Amino acid sequence: VSPVHSLEPGGGAPRERSFVRMGPGAEFDLIRSFVSQDATLPSGVLVGPGDDCAVLAAGSPLAVSTDLSIEDVHFRRAWLEPEEIGWRAAASALSDLAAVAAEPVALLVSLAVPNRDVTSGWTARVMSGAKSAGAAVGASLVGGDLSRSPGPAMINVVVLGRTGRPVLRDGAEVGDEVWVTGSLGGAGAAVELLQRGGELPDAIRRAFARPSPRTGEALWLTENAELHAMIDLSDGLAGDAGHVASASGVAIILDTDDLPVAPGLGEAGFSAERSTSLALHAGEDYELCLVTPPGLLSPLREPFRERFALSLTCVGSVREGEGVWLRQGGMEAVRLETGGFNHFPRGAVE
Ligand SMILES: [Mg+2]
Repeated sequence: VSPVHSLEPGGGAPRERSFVRMGPGAEFDLIRSFVSQDATLPSGVLVGPGDDCAVLAAGSPLAVSTDLSIEDVHFRRAWLEPEEIGWRAAASALSDLAAVAAEPVALLVSLAVPNRDVTSGWTARVMSGAKSAGAAVGASLVGGDLSRSPGPAMINVVVLGRTGRPVLRDGAEVGDEVWVTGSLGGAGAAVELLQRGGELPDAIRRAFARPSPRTGEALWLTENAELHAMIDLSDGLAGDAGHVASASGVAIILDTDDLPVAPGLGEAGFSAERSTSLALHAGEDYELCLVTPPGLLSPLREPFRERFALSLTCVGSVREGEGVWLRQGGMEAVRLETGGFNHFPRGAVE
């Protein structure tokens, strides 16, 4: 039971308000199993799941995003536990909140599943994973939907977050530095290994199965540094840097020698060149790419590492022009072809 003093239905006196009780039925039993353990409504949630709508007290501008995961397009059941499938679906959406420096408040998760899964336990486990990913960054599950699907399973996650001052993609300025959090290429390496039928080393499996939206990191960085632009790495660094370059009307140079390649790729059999390519082009690492005035982030590397056990690496710079350019060693930068995100131009690395 949670008091909701600011909600006064019918104009009556403030009253205590419990979670909305749902009627009978298999669908509602399943929904009840997700929401009933929550003892109280989190701050900012005036009405939780169970009514026609949740009601939130935002108190500041809200960032909203949605993300869709389709079986055999975005995930395969053979590769992940159901909780991991749900976690990744939610983490992907929550990462978009981090990318604009929003503080997560709530998520809504909708599932469409084949007949056999409505009562198989798989669906409840997917939902539980999604809920955990939200809880890990302070977002409360406030709603969703459940349906039978005549085809593959589908998961849709909507996320809402407060943002006083969103950091967008369009603020990169000539002379700025380009930085990334964490390491890159782990999720892409996992997909390659799984496609070959191989086992995943622990570190690579974790990067793939339980990516952490960089929520706290994004908020800390906006408090401690001036960020001109930010994006989360869902499409791969080269592709996402391309989005920042386009939005900002600048060129971005990436120094391929400086990329923080995910640990364990060499041991898993990836060559240095292939590892660099994965770090540049493989998606779903859900790290952040930040663009800042020069010299600001260097002194923050150690405090950041101490606080989050995560690296901050300068991977490039902003120049006049357009597009994404790769530079290795002292060589001249080579422009990445548009749409060539799966292709690592040989001239740039040899
Ligand atoms: Mg994004």
